[in-house]
Amino acid sequence: MNKNKRIAIIGAGPGGLTLARILQQAGFNPVIFEGEISATQREQGGTLDLSEDMGQKALKVAGLLEQFKKVCRYEGEAAKIMDKTATVLFEEGPNVDEEHSGDRPEIDRTMLRQMLLESVNPESIQWGHKLLYATPLENGQHALHFENGVTEVVDLAVGADGAFSKLRPLVSDETAEYSGVSMVEINILDAKKQFPDIVELNGLGSVFALDDQKGMIAQMNGDGKIRIYLSFKAPYEWLHNNGINYDNLEEAKPELLKLFEDWSPELKKYIHYANGPIFPRHIYMLPVGHKWEHKKGITLLGDAAHLMSPFAGAGVNLAMLDASELALSIINHDDTDEAVYNYELKMFEYAGEIAAETKENMDLFFENNAAKTLSDLMKSHHVE
Ligand SMILES: Cc1cc2nc3c(=O)[nH]c(=O)nc-3n(C[C@H](O)[C@H](O)[C@H](O)COP(=O)(O)OP(=O)(O)OC[C@H]3O[C@@H](n4cnc5c(N)ncnc54)[C@H](O)[C@@H]3O)c2cc1C
Repeated sequence: MNKNKRIAIIGAGPGGLTLARILQQAGFNPVIFEGEISATQREQGGTLDLSEDMGQKALKVAGLLEQFKKVCRYEGEAAKIMDKTATVLFEEGPNVDEEHSGDRPEIDRTMLRQMLLESVNPESIQWGHKLLYATPLENGQHALHFENGVTEVVDLAVGADGAFSKLRPLVSDETAEYSGVSMVEINILDAKKQFPDIVELNGLGSVFALDDQKGMIAQMNGDGKIRIYLSFKAPYEWLHNNGINYDNLEEAKPELLKLFEDWSPELKKYIHYANGPIFPRHIYMLPVGHKWEHKKGITLLGDAAHLMSPFAGAGVNLAMLDASELALSIINHDDTDEAVYNYELKMFEYAGEIAAETKENMDLFFENNAAKTLSDLMKSHHVE
């Protein structure tokens, strides 16, 4: 094991932080270079479920599982699948505690990031270091060129820098492509207190209302907010030429309501009650089964390696699993290059399978009769 290798992790997302934590616990000194200027520059997004075989497995390796269990929400595992009439075709949960849990309790993304940030050596994070590009050097090292003018030479560069990774072009010609799905994210702040009727409909977890090749996907967050992804199969340009004013929620609402004109009034409350930020989102993905030929001194993990749509809730789980697999491989091999090669072989296989499942899910969500098909699928999983 070579603890003196200079390891650079690009990106302080869930993947990069998990990798840093596990390596630091084992006595390595990786440095994280993060483009944002501080931990609070950006709101971190909604609620996530961490599965026993991926996210929680990584937290266990990182020594953070017990801490996670103290703050996660078992009741957040609740799920309902509905059609546009708000008829519930499948329902599960809510679960009250770990004993009665499925294997995917929820945690707000901000809380997960905080927990991971607090677990790493604060001096190992270089905020405000946005990678512009990297250049391979003859001996397998890489020079990292940052927007702030800094250049660093490292033995191993790990791209944990998400969908539009700046390290990816060094190993692969593939780029993140539009998946064909666009979303308008809206939020109902303080729903628990202000809008008990929508909380009654939504429950404490997620709602998947699917019909007419579109969807309302709603998730209760730990702070009582409901985050809703209005989801559409649409050409890329549609999101910005559909007449919706994303700068003014009240002006946007009638346009959004028109898109769900014949949907149940109960479901349309998700739009009527929206009182928080609104964001247009294109969903991107890498080709299913994305892989590359191993190159010395560089690798990728998480979205940088296998960006996929959110329709299987796998992204964060996989990023953390990759991080723990890579860290353990580095810890358990004397030769770092061999460690990275072994990690890549293993990761390509499991990530490829999940990417294929995710793509199937995405197609299913936008089929005619999607709610019924998805409900039948969920019921068959419960029988198995
Ligand atoms: C709408 C939506 C909903 C989602 N819902 C879920 C869900 O419910 N469950 C789930 O598991 N996943 C979900 N995902 C996917 C999930 O967000 C990602 O898969 C996950 O965050 C990937 O983690 P990561 O660490 O690989 O990358 P990221 O979380 O993207 O982190 C990358 C980090 O790198 C930094 N960075 C980027 N570029 C640079 C650069 N050039 N230089 C330095 N730093 C850089 C970024 O600032 C960031 O901190 C969702 C995604 C979307 C779009």
